[in-house]
Amino acid sequence: MEKPVLGISSCILGDNVRFDGGAKRDSWVTDKLSEHVDFKKFCPEVEMGLGVPRKPIRLVEESGEIKLKSIDHLIDHTPNALSTFEKYRDYFEGLDGYIFMKNSPTCGPEKLKVYKEEGKGHPERKGLGIFYKWIKENFPLLPIIDSGRLNDNALRENFVKKVFAFQRFKKEVSDISSLQRFHQEYKYIFMEYRPQGPKELGQIAAGLSEQGFENNRDTYLNMMMEIMERPSALKNRKNVMFHILGYFKKDLDKEEKAQIIEMIEEYKEGETSYMAILKLLSFFSKKYSKDYLLNQKYFLPYPKNLKLQRSII
Ligand code: SF4
Repeated sequence: MEKPVLGISSCILGDNVRFDGGAKRDSWVTDKLSEHVDFKKFCPEVEMGLGVPRKPIRLVEESGEIKLKSIDHLIDHTPNALSTFEKYRDYFEGLDGYIFMKNSPTCGPEKLKVYKEEGKGHPERKGLGIFYKWIKENFPLLPIIDSGRLNDNALRENFVKKVFAFQRFKKEVSDISSLQRFHQEYKYIFMEYRPQGPKELGQIAAGLSEQGFENNRDTYLNMMMEIMERPSALKNRKNVMFHILGYFKKDLDKEEKAQIIEMIEEYKEGETSYMAILKLLSFFSKKYSKDYLLNQKYFLPYPKNLKLQRSII
């Protein structure tokens, strides 16, 4: 399987492209994630020709419109920015996710300072980076995260899970039968996010016909990305464990079942880890040759070496 390709703010990879000539390298990205994905780096401000080092720029509200301007508000960089992004449109086609630098008026995802036109008063924290906004508008289904959220274990794990699901869907789903296969393999992942998720997506899959399939498969992808938007809730994860346990009702004796049920209950109390139960269910799937379960991405939604499942609590 090819590696997913992620767009990324160049400074996160350690490139000295920031306005002050520095970088904001993220060691997890450069040392760990980089083994399992390819990156397409991009520094919008450098590509706009602003140079390194450069004077800082900021978001300014003018007649209800938010623009990217020089710090003295005399130069409007917005037209240059937008035409630069358009020039690179092909470079961003086919990406499987994007990692943005936080707090930048260009790359930052939210709550950025927006200054008033006349420069007086306190800036309001309501802006979106102009490049971030362009990517969101032009590639709305793309999984995204920023350098701040990347430090939150649950958000990081969820982002990586989305990236691999998104890439697999694009690569593997080309007709009804490949969609059905994908849908089966992701069943328990979807159920962790939303108990009704597999059913809702199944209804979309059932409604698609071979005719015009290419154009309609995005309906499924759209719903899938919506379902996976936020990390799953503990009660849903527990629910999936019980569902999977149901496959072994004829294989396990009374005591074994009671032991595992106790473990799942303890998981809710934080006394047993998600990983411990996952390993046990995976072990039983192999021992009792449950092929349907062994094909589930639930047990390994991304490369094992990323060791992200241990961060699920
Ligand atoms: S935050 Fe964006 S614009 Fe700023 S240095 Fe990093 S990549 Fe360049």
